[in-house]
Amino acid sequence: MVDRENDEEDVQIEECSVCGGDIIIDSYCEEDDIVYCNDCEAEYLIRSLDPIRLKLLDDDADADDADDSFDEEFE
Ligand SMILES: [Zn+2]
Repeated sequence: MVDRENDEEDVQIEECSVCGGDIIIDSYCEEDDIVYCNDCEAEYLIRSLDPIRLKLLDDDADADDADDSFDEEFE
């Protein structure tokens, strides 16, 4: 028999490599999903679920390009 009350035990917690905080990976997450650090909101790509492998996404490099298009409307 499947006990649905045990679903929450699928939640796994990984350590953020940026701040050491918690990254919650619940049973709904799939490979290639994006998860966030609870403490510093760093983005991680789930490269593998078994075993869990996370890739830190560094968006800072692309942020400038996105901002340029918004600036045109304000000037
Ligand atoms: Zn963090």
